[in-house]
Amino acid sequence: MSMQEYIEEAESALLHTYNRYQLVLDRGDGVYLYDIEGKRYLDFCAGIAVFALGYNNREYNDALKNQIDKVIHTSNYYYNVPAIEAAKKIKKASGMDRIFFTNSGAEAVEGALKAARKYAYLKDGSTDHEIIAMNHSFHGRTMGALAVTGNAKYREPFEPLIGNIKFADYNDIESVKAQLTDKTCAIILETVQGEGGLVPAKEEFLKEIRSICDERDILLILDEIQCGMGRTGYMFAWLKFGVKPDIMSTAKAVGCGVPVGAFLMTEKVGQHSLEAGDHGTTYGGNPLACAAVEKVLDLFERNHIIENVREVAPYLEKRLDELASKHSCIVERRGAGLMQGLVFDRPVRDIINSAMDKGLILINAGANIIRFVPPLVITKENVDEMISILDTCIV
Ligand SMILES: *Cc1c(COP(=O)(O)O)cnc(C)c1O
Repeated sequence: MSMQEYIEEAESALLHTYNRYQLVLDRGDGVYLYDIEGKRYLDFCAGIAVFALGYNNREYNDALKNQIDKVIHTSNYYYNVPAIEAAKKIKKASGMDRIFFTNSGAEAVEGALKAARKYAYLKDGSTDHEIIAMNHSFHGRTMGALAVTGNAKYREPFEPLIGNIKFADYNDIESVKAQLTDKTCAIILETVQGEGGLVPAKEEFLKEIRSICDERDILLILDEIQCGMGRTGYMFAWLKFGVKPDIMSTAKAVGCGVPVGAFLMTEKVGQHSLEAGDHGTTYGGNPLACAAVEKVLDLFERNHIIENVREVAPYLEKRLDELASKHSCIVERRGAGLMQGLVFDRPVRDIINSAMDKGLILINAGANIIRFVPPLVITKENVDEMISILDTCIV
């Protein structure tokens, strides 16, 4: 079938929850993707900040194949070695103490919220605790994660969501203080806002939130689903400032394509929140997903992924800044590491479509921002290739 015929079939069968780009992808290799007609694309999307290691990584593929031949799933009624090894590696990389594996990012956020509420419940037995979340945040599409997502357009049709959520302005400590009450049990934020526009948290803001949380025994939940796993040049973005969360969520790059996420917590929260019977999942932490996580963390270390981010990210920033000064329709560049955005004074969909025609895959974050979240193995030459294509698409 032709690409057009596949797209028509897709549109008659799949629920139309996405305005998809007119592209049927077939395979990947390194930082390139190929469509079903064999056309090659330089990929600066990485499956939305997922495929950090690049496509078709031999060792990663072999690890999955080996696990498939052993066992894919056993359930959480038993232990399995990949989950034990993966947990050990994430603990070491994050400094957190306890982990619960999930199947997605939203589900990791759900678990984080449940742990925070249970922690507060065990302290005073009451069931009216509040959580402070941020405007322009994104935490996922399930009811709980949606309830803390600071985008009314995503939330409104599905209300009532979980209650007692208050919103404050990101990087504005006074606005957070204004939402604090005796009932506040947690503050949740992305260490770098992704979907909401590639905005990094300021060091002062994070530190002040941490001290408010310490003073009042409020739990700090950092959502590292997009900004974590090396993307900002640190294994987790909060490590840059040493502002350690009480609970942390991860997903996206942690499995590099196998659907897996996790929420992690300190021993203090682990000992005083979710207990046997409080939370569960059939698939979460299964041997196949955990074999992926284990191999991803192994390859991050051996292939010096973070070192590559630290080398290439400043170059990407420089080239994006040059592009911004050349084109007056670009208002601003912002972001951290290999998580960058170019803010335009107009919608960017046409630019993204034109780049796709010319063999470059980009994505947006909101209508006016192009988001750059490439595989973490990109080189400076790949950056040059991206810039030279993008330059011709901005008219
Ligand atoms: C993508 C994302 C999520 C949701 O993850 P899913 O796997 O799509 O459920 C949550 N938080 C942040 C910061 C994200 O970028």
